[in-house]
Amino acid sequence: MNGIILKFTFLLLFLLTGTVNAGQAVIQSMRLWSAPDHTRLVFDVDAAVEHKIFTLKSPDRLVIDISNARLTVKPQQATSQDQFIRQVRFGKQDKRNSRIVLDLKKTVQPRSFVLKPNKQYGHRLVVDVYQKASDSKQKSKSVKTVSKTYHRDVVIAIDAGHGGEDPGASGAKGSKEKRVTLAIAKKLKALVDAEKGMSAVLTRKGDYYIPLRQRMDIARKYKADLFVSIHADAFKDPRASGASVYVLSRRGASSEAAKWLAKQENAADLIGGVKLGDKDDVLASVLMDLSQSATIQASNGAAGQVLSQLKRLGKVHGRKVQRAGFMVLKSPDMPSMLVETAFISNPQEERRLNSAAHQKRLAKAILSGVKNYFQQSPPPGSLMASQQSQSDIVYIVKAGDTLSAIASRYQISLNVIRSYNKLRTDVLSIGKRLTIPARSDS
Ligand SMILES: [Zn+2]
Repeated sequence: MNGIILKFTFLLLFLLTGTVNAGQAVIQSMRLWSAPDHTRLVFDVDAAVEHKIFTLKSPDRLVIDISNARLTVKPQQATSQDQFIRQVRFGKQDKRNSRIVLDLKKTVQPRSFVLKPNKQYGHRLVVDVYQKASDSKQKSKSVKTVSKTYHRDVVIAIDAGHGGEDPGASGAKGSKEKRVTLAIAKKLKALVDAEKGMSAVLTRKGDYYIPLRQRMDIARKYKADLFVSIHADAFKDPRASGASVYVLSRRGASSEAAKWLAKQENAADLIGGVKLGDKDDVLASVLMDLSQSATIQASNGAAGQVLSQLKRLGKVHGRKVQRAGFMVLKSPDMPSMLVETAFISNPQEERRLNSAAHQKRLAKAILSGVKNYFQQSPPPGSLMASQQSQSDIVYIVKAGDTLSAIASRYQISLNVIRSYNKLRTDVLSIGKRLTIPARSDS
């Protein structure tokens, strides 16, 4: 009897002391990413933690209290270019709890959330600092100063995959996909901007993470004619090599490998720290059905041109344009493609991906493909379209198009379009190819 009680007390004592010792979480490291619209702080903790954030005035500060946790690292400081944070300080709130104080350059709107462990990281606490809504009246920027001339540029949105908290795939030598993609994206932008009648926008310009949907929103804001997402593949077999080009599939991936890859790339938001809203997906899929066949057709055309240029650079992985359900390609209204430039998991290709000369070759191949496509199908109103007005243009009908709108866009009479295309009705089906005859007056 006594023995049992003794054992019981012992167990109780053990449990009590055990919980006290193991209960305090350890904040093991910290990362800080400065993006144009926000700054992100990420804390790695060895267990799930509870936290509280609040702001203080004069001077502006943001306080992050983490319950039952201790700090074992030194704070990482923001660079002087960071628009929000002057200094990061670590302290103790009391014996058990940790306090992190951000000395701010201005009043901010904070947001915080915790993330469960995944393949790359353990438990994380993420704190994002945004501009306060009242002072975020952004000046709308234009791609290039809009000239008075009627003909606009063809706009290419270039999306460097991953970034910041999300490194993407890595090579055996430690190269990170996020660095390679940004280097290629910047070279491609310079090449596109140097072309007459074309200009480019980057979805990210530095080492920070942008949620997948926001990447498409940026492209849409600049009315991009094409969205090109740049990536570098990884596969468990280090022998896998070569480039591939993907477009969105509505009916699922074209191969098992494509399905696997799409899963990896779509997980970027989970690693980067943003959860995708499911409700949004339902709405998106409805919208997509309405107009996507024309967009997919255009995506296919552009992707085919890019792939054939990449073939001239060397061996490609997929000989045809591949299809998969990449989140970043799901714009219903914007032709989009994803280029896996090479396998970073292949030692030889990893070396080449880090070479500036090879990055430029890849950028040049992508540019040639894109240019070839737009020379064949220039968007209405663009300089490229006006240069083509000497010859017939093939126009692919999009959702919302009417025959009269198309006629007025090309400044041509309805009857000419009707007779040239042998139309019996003015009702157009999406995806139909209309030939716009060369203008006799020019
Ligand atoms: Zn990627």
